[in-house]
Amino acid sequence: MTAAPDCLFCKIVAGDIPAEVVHTTESTVAFRDINPQAPLHVLVVPRDHEPDAAASAAADAAMFAEIATTARAVATGEGYDDYRLVFNTGAGVGQTVFHTHCHVLAGRAMTWPPG
Ligand code: AMP
Ligand code: ZN
Repeated sequence: MTAAPDCLFCKIVAGDIPAEVVHTTESTVAFRDINPQAPLHVLVVPRDHEPDAAASAAADAAMFAEIATTARAVATGEGYDDYRLVFNTGAGVGQTVFHTHCHVLAGRAMTWPPG
């Protein structure tokens, strides 16, 4: 596994920082967002550190696919067939943690386009 020093999500994956983990797979860990924006707001992160979604996809396509199937498992497991997946990519669109993470949001009406 690749980890980056001083990466918050690497520390959560390692169990060094607590999080409410709801699902794990060989390649991913899913935990509740500390500042939820919907009744369901879970982050699915790969265990391996990469800075963003495209970098993870390039590094390991199968692992990246596992993020999507894990996101579905989390949403349907909590009773939501409809859910929104978001990968903020770049500080300019709001990425604050530079370890790939998929926001899984569900449980309220959502607008389009997103703000
Ligand atoms: P982004 O802005 O797309 O980089 O998303 C980062 C997300 O990480 C935000 O929604 C934060 O609320 C969330 N977050 C930050 N620190 C923690 C933490 N310790 N545990 C769980 N979620 C966190
Ligand atoms: Zn990391």
